[in-house]
Amino acid sequence: MSPVQKVFTKILPKKWAHHMEEDSRRWMVQCACGHERSVWELGGIRWKARGTPRRYAKCPACHKSSWHKVYKRHDPI
Ligand SMILES: [Zn+2]
Repeated sequence: MSPVQKVFTKILPKKWAHHMEEDSRRWMVQCACGHERSVWELGGIRWKARGTPRRYAKCPACHKSSWHKVYKRHDPI
C-alpha cells in the first residue's frame, strides 16, 4: 500500500476503508496499447468519483509516456 492508502485505511472506519479500496480497484488506468492497471495498484485512491478523467503516465508494457484513459469497471472483481 502507498502512504496515502495506509493513512486512509487507518483513519476510516473499517467498512468505509473496505469500500474505498474496492472502489479504487474498480477504477482502471488504461494505456493506448491496451495495458491497464487499477488506480489502487498505482498507489492511488479514487472514491465516490464520477466521469472519465485522463492521466499522464508511463506505461510499463510499451514504455511510452502518454495520456491514459481512466474508467470505472462495472463487473465484479
Ligand atoms: Zn502501453
